[in-house]
Order: sequence, then structure tokens, then C-alpha cells
Amino acid sequence: MRYLDFHTHTWPEESVEIDAIVSCVAPEPVCDYQEGIYLSYGIHPWYIQGNDTEKLLEHVREAAHFNRVVAIGEAGLDKLKGPPMDVQKRLFCWQIEISEAVNKPLIIHSVKANNEVLNLRKTMNPAQPWIIHGFNGHPQEMEQLIKAGFYLSFGPKILYPSNKAAESFRQIPEDRFFLETDHTNKSIVALYDKAADIRGISVKVLEEAIRKNGAQLIPALKRS
Ligand SMILES: [Zn+2]
Repeated sequence: MRYLDFHTHTWPEESVEIDAIVSCVAPEPVCDYQEGIYLSYGIHPWYIQGNDTEKLLEHVREAAHFNRVVAIGEAGLDKLKGPPMDVQKRLFCWQIEISEAVNKPLIIHSVKANNEVLNLRKTMNPAQPWIIHGFNGHPQEMEQLIKAGFYLSFGPKILYPSNKAAESFRQIPEDRFFLETDHTNKSIVALYDKAADIRGISVKVLEEAIRKNGAQLIPALKRS
């Protein structure tokens, strides 16, 4: 069994069989290589303010070429936090272009902005996969995003059965999802257990589906 934590801000314990994509936020440096740890690198909308945006972009452009940086992001739009939407949009679009230039998928932070993100995908027509992390929407919203080609990563909100994300997770096609712990201290193992339970499948079947999805998007994960 090899777990994949698709989006996290903490390094997993070495003892457990976990691959993790740790989210590095510009301008922090790209951390050293460690087995099973992959990185995404991007400008998080919460941490734009007070920084020279050109410099932040330089960091992303540089980090994007590192082998252990397997995805760009988290980047995106947040209507509840961060600078004005036009500033967020500009930086998000620059990062879409970087993702396209280096052929690495884009991990997206979207708060109350899924429509804007959806429209951007339609107008910019990127070749790279886009993954909305921490998806917490209704099944109808999930369907709309799946139709438009998105992947969705689900976090600990699915641990609460009445949550709309749990219902979306139950219905999502098996070739489009990931699981993640994000900022929380929840365990990815517990999340896999609950997720398998929601879909009425074994953890092994779930693990295989996620592993396949990971390898599809991120060549480096094929080795695991
Ligand atoms: Zn995050």
C-alpha cells in the first residue's frame, strides 16, 4: 500500500508509506530532495500582498524547472482573502503560462471562484491538467468541473458525512480524484479509510485508482 497525499503543507512521517506533494509558497526556497516527497511551487493568493510580484514570479519561473517540483501552484483565486481580484487574476494567469511552458500540471486554490476558474480554462484552453484542491462543492458543481476536464482533490471535509463534499466524492468518476490533508493534522491513512467507505470500495481499490491518477498526471509518481 502506498498512499498519496496530493496536497499538504507538512512533511509526512517517514515511517508510513506515503508519497506527498508538499506545497511550497513563493518566495520560500525549494527544499532538498527526500524520498517520497514531491513539491508544487507557486504564488498563493494569500501571500501576494507586501511582496514584489515580479520577484515572486521569478521564484516560480526558476523553481518550475526543478525535477522535484512536479506541479505549479497552489495558485488561484480567493474571494475571501488576499489582494483585489484583478491582481489575483493577473498572477494566476502568469502561473497558468508557466505551467504550460514547463509542461507541469497546475494545482489550484479556489475560494468562491470556481466559475472564474472554469471560465479561465475555457478561454485559455491549456494543455496541462488543472486540479482544484480542497474541493468542497455540491455534486452539480463537481459535474460541471469534471465535464470541463478538471481533476478534484478532496480534503478532511469528507470525514463529515453530511458535508456536500462527501456526496460529491461519492459520485465523482474514479479517474478524476485525489485525497489531501492540506493544512490540517489529519492523517492521510484515515482519509483513505473514510474515502473507501464513502464509495463502498476497499482501500486497496481506492489506492490503485489514486495511484493511477497520480501516474497519469505526474510522471515522477510512476516510479513509486
Ligand atoms: Zn494548501
